[in-house]
Amino acid sequence: MSQRMQQGQPMIVMSEDSQRVKDRDAQDYNIRAARAVAEAVRSTLGPKGMDKMLVDSMGSVTITNDGVTILQEMDIDNPTAEMIVEVAETQEDEAGDGTTTAVAIAGELLKNAEDLLEQDIHPTAIIKGFHMAADQARTEIDAVATEIDTSDEDLLRKTAETSMTGKGAEVNKEHLAQLIVDAVSGVTVESDDGEHVVDLEFLNIETQTGRAVDQSDLLEGGIVDKDPVHDDMPTSVEDANILLLNDPIEVEETDVDTEVSVTDPDQLQKFLDREEKQLKDKVAHIVDTGADVVFCQKGIDDLAQHYLAKEGILAVRRAKKSDLEFLSEVVNAAIVSDLESSTADDLGFGDVTRDEDDELFYVEGEDAHGVTLLLRGSTEHVVDELERGVNDALDVVAQTVSDGRVLAGGGAIEVELASRLRDYADSVSGREQLAVEAFADSLELVPRVLAENAGLDSIDTLVDLRAAHEDGQVRAGLNVFSSEVEDTFEAGVVEPAHAKEQAVSSATEAANLVLKIDDIISAGDLSTDKGDDEEGAPGAGGMGGGMGGMGGMM
Ligand code: ADP
Ligand code: MG
Repeated sequence: MSQRMQQGQPMIVMSEDSQRVKDRDAQDYNIRAARAVAEAVRSTLGPKGMDKMLVDSMGSVTITNDGVTILQEMDIDNPTAEMIVEVAETQEDEAGDGTTTAVAIAGELLKNAEDLLEQDIHPTAIIKGFHMAADQARTEIDAVATEIDTSDEDLLRKTAETSMTGKGAEVNKEHLAQLIVDAVSGVTVESDDGEHVVDLEFLNIETQTGRAVDQSDLLEGGIVDKDPVHDDMPTSVEDANILLLNDPIEVEETDVDTEVSVTDPDQLQKFLDREEKQLKDKVAHIVDTGADVVFCQKGIDDLAQHYLAKEGILAVRRAKKSDLEFLSEVVNAAIVSDLESSTADDLGFGDVTRDEDDELFYVEGEDAHGVTLLLRGSTEHVVDELERGVNDALDVVAQTVSDGRVLAGGGAIEVELASRLRDYADSVSGREQLAVEAFADSLELVPRVLAENAGLDSIDTLVDLRAAHEDGQVRAGLNVFSSEVEDTFEAGVVEPAHAKEQAVSSATEAANLVLKIDDIISAGDLSTDKGDDEEGAPGAGGMGGGMGGMGGMM
């Protein structure tokens, strides 16, 4: 690129290596990068979607179907592609589910925008049209959504099952769906004005390997997966005063560099006595507060363990920080970071029960609430993917309980929205009308991909779906288990409305962000060689090496 200043033109001073791409080339480049990301997750969408295996640079393996996890693990190093990853992250934060959908729609919006750009339609018109369509889509989602009785457990279970279908959690989805619904109800309170407020802060997920998924369980209170520090300690304490300690019960080193030069045996004895006294004092202080149980996040000296056992106090060391934080909710205790200044007021109250089979403690609180979902699976990989699936389903149920609006899944809502947006487009003038239509087409990607991933003909499916909706069947979707176009709501494929609204919003924002860019100035090398064809976009669908290729684009 020429660095020479031209008369009367502003100059951007860039290094030799830097590159600049403008206008259509810039748009082209960005759209290809964004679409490559969307293509990479498409094949995981829906119940029949496949999983991805991600291997990081350290060789550790993640096997997942979860959109946001795939994108985060993919080690993408392309700024445009990263914007699409952000769509998934926003969706995950705001809705907890629907990440693949959001990213896939964003990719399709850009694909259809590219066609419009080729017809010389200005990006501004496309951006405006997309924006209008998204607004309208949200209005229509609300119009189509069904208000449910949020205490309808059967329906809540269905939303949980729909969310888990196709995930590692699917095998035991009935059992898990019940646990999830119970867990959410365990942390739901009714506010004064009758609203259901779900506080997932009071819900803790613990995982354990070595057992079958169907042995997953919901427990009142928290758990601590540790052993007592001393064999002579009690293992279960009812009505316990519980101290949560983030301070070691060890000898304090006054000065790191202190060297004890022992010149005679007396001196050594004195030194040891001093240490012993320190530990004795600490334990005496614990006894003074009235604690029966100590969960300590730090270490406990051997001698202190012995003293504690003598006092009949149950103590655990190196407890997890997150466990202490959760326990502080469950038993209503403060987390003490300076033992000397702790008082009886800091203690919590509850029952501590040892489960000898699982080698862990159950901690139940008296007045404070909190539940623990104990997820079990044979191996680490199983449990990890289980946890991701359950997390999504928890958010889905929590949202449904607090929001109360649900939709028919399996592409039903997307096809209905598309049809309504096409009607709406008629009222839109100018180039924006084409953008609204393109938006409608983009939404239909969802049923197309659901069909594709299930090995069905996506065109036939879409034709059937459109016909059903033309016919007024608002809830007609593809049920991939029966391979039929049917009322998916009746078939139990139910999704929260909020997640869909969010998917529409975040996909649109991302697409518009990409479309607004008409100039890329890069400090590094910007290779703009085009993929062979549309599907050949760099990095599309490829993992590992493929993504390296994507990084190479910049
Ligand atoms: P996301 O990350 O977007 O949540 P998923 O892989 O979880 O992606 O797939 C969600 C999609 O799968 C939704 O559109 C949902 O309606 C659809 N789905 C769930 N169960 C069924 C089913 N039995 N038949 C067809 N589609 C289904
Ligand atoms: Mg999902």
